[in-house]
Amino acid sequence: MLESKKFVYLIAFGLEKRLLLGVSKNIKEVFGFEVRTSHVETIPNFGYEPSRGQYRADALLEYISRLYYPDMLKLVALFPFDLYHEGFNFVFGVAPLGGSHALVSTYRLYDGDERLYFERVCKEVNHELGHTFGLPHCKRQGCVMNFSNSLWEVDRKTRFLCERCKDVISTRFS
Ligand SMILES: [Zn+2]
Ligand SMILES: [Zn+2]
Repeated sequence: MLESKKFVYLIAFGLEKRLLLGVSKNIKEVFGFEVRTSHVETIPNFGYEPSRGQYRADALLEYISRLYYPDMLKLVALFPFDLYHEGFNFVFGVAPLGGSHALVSTYRLYDGDERLYFERVCKEVNHELGHTFGLPHCKRQGCVMNFSNSLWEVDRKTRFLCERCKDVISTRFS
């Protein structure tokens, strides 16, 4: 094995623990890595833009990037408020390609259906996590690496990686 025991860390700011456990099971299932979860009550106040009522995704990501654990492979943070990024009215999440940290907002994913909400959170987490593993956007039908900037586009894809994207991860990281 290339790596000694490494974990994907899933940190949730102010979200229900039940969601955290479900998403962590999903990560294990889709990526094959063990997951450590952590629940943080306090919402970080980095990158908040009062004029927009939104958080600047890159500023918050920078804050989150200070979180580091010795046995950490990647870290995904779940955030309950709305994020935006230069050129976009909002983003569901951000992650630098091949980086170690990803940020996902649950804010726009809930519209009354709990099951759908859970599916969407899993999809956005898997998508951003995929970027940290070096996966670019993928156009194959159903692949979680399809680009999405609307709920319609989120619902159209699955929470799974297509065979090609899965191969990239298993050759690079196992
Ligand atoms: Zn993307
Ligand atoms: Zn793909």
